[in-house]
Formats: sequence, structure tokens, C-alpha cells
Amino acid sequence: MPPTKYKFNPDSLSFDKVRFGIKALLLRFLAYFLGSVIVAFIYWGIFASFFDSPKEKALKREVEQMTIQYDLIHREMANVEIVLEDLQKTDDNLYRSIFEAEPIPGTLRDGGIGGVNRYDALEGYNNSNLVIETANRLDKIIKKVYVQSKSFDDLIKLAKDKEAMLKSVPAIIPISNKDLTRTASGYGWRIHPIYKISKFHYGMDFTAPLGTDIYATGNGTVVAVLSAQRGLGKHIIINHGFGYSSIYAHLSNFNVRAGQKVQRGEIIGFVGSTGTSVANHLHYEIKLNGVNVDPVNYYFEDLNSMEYERMVEIASKTGQSFD
Ligand SMILES: [Zn+2]
Repeated sequence: MPPTKYKFNPDSLSFDKVRFGIKALLLRFLAYFLGSVIVAFIYWGIFASFFDSPKEKALKREVEQMTIQYDLIHREMANVEIVLEDLQKTDDNLYRSIFEAEPIPGTLRDGGIGGVNRYDALEGYNNSNLVIETANRLDKIIKKVYVQSKSFDDLIKLAKDKEAMLKSVPAIIPISNKDLTRTASGYGWRIHPIYKISKFHYGMDFTAPLGTDIYATGNGTVVAVLSAQRGLGKHIIINHGFGYSSIYAHLSNFNVRAGQKVQRGEIIGFVGSTGTSVANHLHYEIKLNGVNVDPVNYYFEDLNSMEYERMVEIASKTGQSFD
């Protein structure tokens, strides 16, 4: 039943029943409904501007968490940067100076990452700066780590070369020389034993009985086994690489052939007095890049510092060489 309404009729002075049509009823309903919806929207607008929805609250918490995470990452990166810096210093100041290698230029280590803006995908957000700064810092760290690891690869190669070099460079006395008593004459100006004039002596002489073993003083290849009537007589030349070669002269006999590879300490020949020589002895020379150097400085495998001092003293005292 539709609600009953009454209207005062001034003519009859009585209340007449008013009847509503369906259309009027529908219109009234629609008006009420729209009114409620509009009010609801207004309330929602006011509410939303003061309070977050549960979803917004969750997202905001997430952003907060992420910002904290980013801060932690920055702290971690700062630690990594300190460790990296230490590695770089040790690399440049210690390792590279041991192997006489140039330090890595700072521009290479700290060089930026070139090209177009790598971070434009990260732009346009509330926290873009934080994210870009983090990505940038991380990229720099990755670059530094890469440069450092390349540097260590280089150093490993240098160390391997150094090992080979240490085995190759002449470093022992070429004959058994207990108490250094076989040291006969050193490098420098000496009286020639035959011509009796002052002549530069380019090696060291060691007196020893005929047939005494002669050792290769470093790893290398025998490049020449020669027999001369005069001068060096029967002699051997070894190429040690790294610019070094050594000569063993006045031998009675050989124990190697040309082209043979030899190790430090290997017996290559025997003491004699062939060529221009006055007595059984070994004449020993070292050349660095083709230029003679004083062999007294190349016995560091055999001599401690005191023995070295004595060797220098003995070698410098003798006035006459055996040639
Ligand atoms: Zn000599």
C-alpha cells in the first residue's frame, strides 16, 4: 500500500485524500538516492584527504622500509669503498713497486661510466634521487673491482715472470769455493799475467785444480761451446734471458752441447788452462744487455752479507789476473 496523504480543501473545509502516481513516486525515490550518493562522495573525499586507505598505508610502510634498506646499502657500500681503497693502495705502493710496474692511473680507477644517461628509467619518482645515487655508486664500485681484479691478473703474471727471472739470473759462484780461498782475481784494472801491462779484466778468476767441476750460475740455454787457441780458450756462453748471459773460459773439457738447456748448479765443464792462461783457473764473466758487469754482485744465492764483503775485499786486492 502506498502511504496515504491528506490535503486541506478550503472549499469543503475538509481533508481530501491525495493519491500519488507511480511516476511521482519513482522521481522522489531517485532524488533521495542521488542525494545520498552525493553526500557519500563528499564524506569519502573529506575522509580520504585526512586518512589513508589500508592499501596506501601498506605501500607507505613499504616505501619507508625500502628507504631504510637503501640507507643500509649505502653504509655497506661505504665499507666496501674503504676496503677497495686499501687494496688499491697496497696494489700501487707495494705489489707494483715490488715488480717495478707503474701504478694504475687514478683516472682509470675512478673513471665514470660513459654513454647516455644510464639512469633515466629511474627518474620521475619521489625517491628517484636516492635510487639513482645508489645505482651510480654501485656502478662505480663494480668498475673499481673490475680494474682491481685486472690489476691482480697482471701481478700474477709479473710474479710468475719474476720467479722465472730469479731462477735465471746468475746468482751462484761457478765453482765450489769453500772459505772463498779459490777467489783469485776480480773485475777491474789488473796487471796482465803475460803482457805485464795494466789491462781491464772483464771477469773474475777462480784458481782450482785441473778438472774441477764448473756450474751454470743460472737457468738458461747454452748458446756457444767454443774452442780457441788463444784468448778464452775452450769456453761456454750461456744465455739466461732477461738480458743476462755468462761466459766460462779456459776449460779443459765441456759437459754440455750448444743449444742445450741448463739449470742453475748443473755441471757444464771442467777447469783447465786453455787459451791465454798462466795456470789452471776459471775465468768467469757476466754480461747484462751485452755489457760486462762485475760478477762479484751476482753471488747472492751463495754468499751472506759478510761473505760478500770478504769476497769483494779478496777480489779487489789481487794485483794480477790469471786472464
Ligand atoms: Zn780472468
